[in-house]
Amino acid sequence: MTLPREVDVAVIGGGIVGLCTALELARAGTEVLVLDDAARLGGTTANAGSLHVQMQSRFIRLYPDQVPGLEASLPLYVAAARRWAELEQELGTGFERKASGGLMVAETPESYEFLARKCEREKRLGLQVEMLGRAELARIAPYLGEAVIGAEFCAEEGKLNPLLANQAVRRALQALGGALLPETRIERLEADPRGGWTLHAGTGPLRAGRVVLAAGAGTGALLAPLGLVVPTVAEPLHMNVTEATAPLIGHLVQHAERMITLKQLSAGQCVIGGGWPARLHGPQQHPTVEASSLIGNLRLASHIVPRLARLRLIRAWAGVNTTVDGRCVLGAVPGHAGLFTAVPGDAGYTLGPLVGRLAAGAVLGRRDLDFDIAPFSPVRFAGAAALA
Ligand SMILES: Cc1cc2nc3c(=O)[nH]c(=O)nc-3n(C[C@H](O)[C@H](O)[C@H](O)COP(=O)(O)OP(=O)(O)OC[C@H]3O[C@@H](n4cnc5c(N)ncnc54)[C@H](O)[C@@H]3O)c2cc1C
Repeated sequence: MTLPREVDVAVIGGGIVGLCTALELARAGTEVLVLDDAARLGGTTANAGSLHVQMQSRFIRLYPDQVPGLEASLPLYVAAARRWAELEQELGTGFERKASGGLMVAETPESYEFLARKCEREKRLGLQVEMLGRAELARIAPYLGEAVIGAEFCAEEGKLNPLLANQAVRRALQALGGALLPETRIERLEADPRGGWTLHAGTGPLRAGRVVLAAGAGTGALLAPLGLVVPTVAEPLHMNVTEATAPLIGHLVQHAERMITLKQLSAGQCVIGGGWPARLHGPQQHPTVEASSLIGNLRLASHIVPRLARLRLIRAWAGVNTTVDGRCVLGAVPGHAGLFTAVPGDAGYTLGPLVGRLAAGAVLGRRDLDFDIAPFSPVRFAGAAALA
């Protein structure tokens, strides 16, 4: 496909959020085109497929100032995990999704106390969470090493296979007439005096009635020339995956203090991540694996689940996550008619289908959205723009 001259809605960014936004628009009969530069591995093509619901302690430690925003977003994560289940049904294709619950483990009495306090706050906010001691863990998660003394269990957490899910969403979008244009970088947006927008790509201009910015870490750079500040930051992260083994890890496992996520795919491979850094390299700023992360991540994994030490690593990779302020940046851009943002908060793959639905609802002017998206408006950065 070549760049058309005109389209009703252009979605910039073909990650899970852009694809799901486009899918919802196509379902409503809207003409939609998704453009993606595909120069770098965005989070969608690199992520681990964990469906997160409880607050990740990594995030609380790294960005304590963002905790109030995260807490306010918790109901969104519960709904997002459910939205994945609905989407699987709607598309009639399995994503190897399992809602088998998530454990955030503690190794010291201090971290157990930290989790217990987090658990109480999350319960008050409506999450299905409980604290488990060593004896209960030995019963439901015998694969955990002896260093683990307890955990917070969240029943709604789980996992899926993102390769299957991404492919299913892309297919469904195309079956509804939605168009995808890869390898097309949008350099700049310009408001058209006749209404709508002109998108400038290397291959020429495209006119769009409305534009959704679902460009992850690239969103801020597209808004900056319009005098708007949305401080998206590219965060390159590392992942490891082992050879397949017999059923071993039944839950999504995280740590109260250390950077680890663990789970096992249906085919038996164990996927190990948790936010270990990668680096951006070369003119394309390609995410590149760091040996120290590969080793550190595996050492920690086999400390938490000792049987992992017997397995061979079959692949390591890096991808680009997007951070802003922990919350989604979602909805109409005030003062710029026909321009919308759709950037998920932390654990953005989990949020993808729900954020896509809410973004499409905003584009279509729906008033019956399941959530009030006003708190996620890009307008919250307006103060920073004025100062800049
Ligand atoms: C290694 C890793 C593991 C992760 N694991 C998990 C997990 O287990 N669970 C979870 O919930 N989340 C996880 N995440 C986070 C999650 O993957 C992301 O938050 C989510 O995929 C973001 O989706 P997105 O559609 O907003 O952005 P992306 O997937 O980043 O897509 C944005 C797209 O926009 C394109 N783009 C940018 N600028 C332009 C431009 N100017 N013109 C055209 N195209 C442009 C980019 O190339 C990219 O393809 C992980 C992230 C990483 C990196």
